[in-house]
Amino acid sequence: MAADRIDGKAFAEKLRARVGEQAAKFEQAAGRKAGLAVVLVGEDPASQVYVRSKGKAVLAANMNGFEHRLAEDTSQEDLLALVEALNADDAVDGILVQLPLPAHLDDQAVIAAIDPDKDVDGFHIANAGRLAVGQTGFVPCTPLGCMMLLADRLGDLSGMEAVVIGRSNIVGKPMAQLLLDANATVTIAHSRTKDLAGVVRRADIVVAAVGRAEMVKADWLKPGATVIDVGINRLPAGEGEERGRLVGDVDYGPASEVASAITPVPGGVGPMTIAVLLRNTLVAAYNHAGLDQPEGL
Ligand code: NAD
Repeated sequence: MAADRIDGKAFAEKLRARVGEQAAKFEQAAGRKAGLAVVLVGEDPASQVYVRSKGKAVLAANMNGFEHRLAEDTSQEDLLALVEALNADDAVDGILVQLPLPAHLDDQAVIAAIDPDKDVDGFHIANAGRLAVGQTGFVPCTPLGCMMLLADRLGDLSGMEAVVIGRSNIVGKPMAQLLLDANATVTIAHSRTKDLAGVVRRADIVVAAVGRAEMVKADWLKPGATVIDVGINRLPAGEGEERGRLVGDVDYGPASEVASAITPVPGGVGPMTIAVLLRNTLVAAYNHAGLDQPEGL
């Protein structure tokens, strides 16, 4: 039987609508809109697309967006000065510096300069530490979005075997920590893992965050597994196609014959990331304004 398609797009739309309603209530209570500052350095085309769509999403959710576009050759000093100014700006609740930065800039130093209470991407060491020790903080948007989809689909994850493929700081590691927090038995697989297929075959929950097109094969999966595909890969353009098709890290068609539920690419995890960013920004705004956060945000 074909697996259920986990509709991240629909879930994300509902989350965005809920955040939009709560953001309107925030404006009434605080006397100002919640605000997200997005900093883009340079001309990277993919980053420009992301920043544009984040800007639109922020406005649609009844929040203010403050976009700061800096030249490719911006100095570290100038970028840090902007981050400091945004930290001090009362109209700004969340700060997002679009990565990757141009090679001459130090990502880690820039992230470290962001006020952890405005770090809605959850990349600051203080927030990574809070997640590691089980304290409330900002959690990176993509893994938190994956977790929302899993909780919605499976409810209680206690005792389930979860395998996360990929150990990046922005997806794999925080994903594993969230699953651990939810009492799953968690394995992190990565480029040096031996017998990856054998490891994945144990899993009730598979989260693939590698960046390799259709790497995870159907016969790696335990029948009935729930599969979350974070990967976004563009296949080379075929005949008659201007641009290649987008695919995930999982071989979707065959895998959906074995799994019980699976996220498609596109339309699965991707739309969750921006929805969670909006949610994190509103949480930051409530905290910043000293107001109680509404239930269920
Ligand atoms: P990354 O390159 O930082 O990390 C990839 C991880 O995969 C590494 O930890 C590496 O150990 C592991 N890996 C590499 N080759 C492997 C192999 N052969 N077998 C097992 N593991 C292997 O990537 P990332 O930033 O974590 O992103 C992963 C994927 O998720 C990319 O396709 C990216 O585009 C996508 N992504 C999607 C969203 C979204 O919004 N949907 C957000 C972030 C990342």
